[in-house]
Amino acid sequence: MLPWLSDRKYQLLIESINKALPQNYDFEIIKTLTRLSQVKAKSVCLQFPEGLLAWADTIAFLIEEFADGEIDVFVVGDVVYGACCIDDIRAAYFDCDFLVHYAHSCLVKVSDMDVPCLYIFVKIKIDPEDFVKAIKNIIFMVLPDASGGHSKEATLTKLHLNATVQYIDVVHFAYRKLVEDGYGDRISIPICSPLSPGETLGCTSAKLNGNLCVFLADGRFHIESSMIQNPHVVYYRFDPFTRRMFLEKYDHQALYLTRNRVLRSVRINPRVPYLNEFTADLIVNVGCPRMSIDWGAESCHIPFISTFE
Ligand code: SF4
Repeated sequence: MLPWLSDRKYQLLIESINKALPQNYDFEIIKTLTRLSQVKAKSVCLQFPEGLLAWADTIAFLIEEFADGEIDVFVVGDVVYGACCIDDIRAAYFDCDFLVHYAHSCLVKVSDMDVPCLYIFVKIKIDPEDFVKAIKNIIFMVLPDASGGHSKEATLTKLHLNATVQYIDVVHFAYRKLVEDGYGDRISIPICSPLSPGETLGCTSAKLNGNLCVFLADGRFHIESSMIQNPHVVYYRFDPFTRRMFLEKYDHQALYLTRNRVLRSVRINPRVPYLNEFTADLIVNVGCPRMSIDWGAESCHIPFISTFE
């Protein structure tokens, strides 16, 4: 219950959430309204990744309509690429006294923000038993061998469970189930600070000491981060929508060769004569480090490297 709403209005809020928002996505409207009431927010900024902007209008309406008192809601229209894009500076610029950031891990601590902030992970509901069943059916029957191939005789040293933040509860459910079923000594949920156990970002993933990882995600971007970090590990990805397990591969050799070639070109040929767009010999990307890797060496006609490189 929300103390400032009558029973009837609260019921209307619940019905509106159920009707207007997808049932399997948890936008945590009640928690948001409670928090806004606690901090006595008068003006709130909402930040969504592209894929969720379709619901921004509805969520803004629900907040304005059911908040504890009058509140202005702004939706940031700029593209939000990842957890690093949290824009407390813009929220402050809009004179907002609160920021709600949707669908990303807490990469930047709320204590480091210019305005108070709430992360809504937008957890996606799936049946966690499907995930457990898939792990048991597939992984424990066909284990990776030392060469990265598969054989029933190969030994599992440790199975790591990972996910994007939307599915982190499912990973913890699966861990508890597998421990109950006696697999506890060979299962782990890795931690990569500042993320919570099991979470992975495209730029932030744990070093794994086992030889197998099951990753719960609906795309390859996040699992690739872990695969780049751990070339010795065999990866399976459980797709939450098709409920199928996929063996995933990453071409580390191609990655090392390509990046090496780019870095060597910086040293060997520091002045590129045929520049037309840029008057520079080198671009050092201070943003997402995955860009130089994922876009490939051909994306730019002068060397394009990350700050790590
Ligand atoms: S992977 Fe890139 S976009 Fe995602 S949080 Fe890291 S730096 Fe940001």
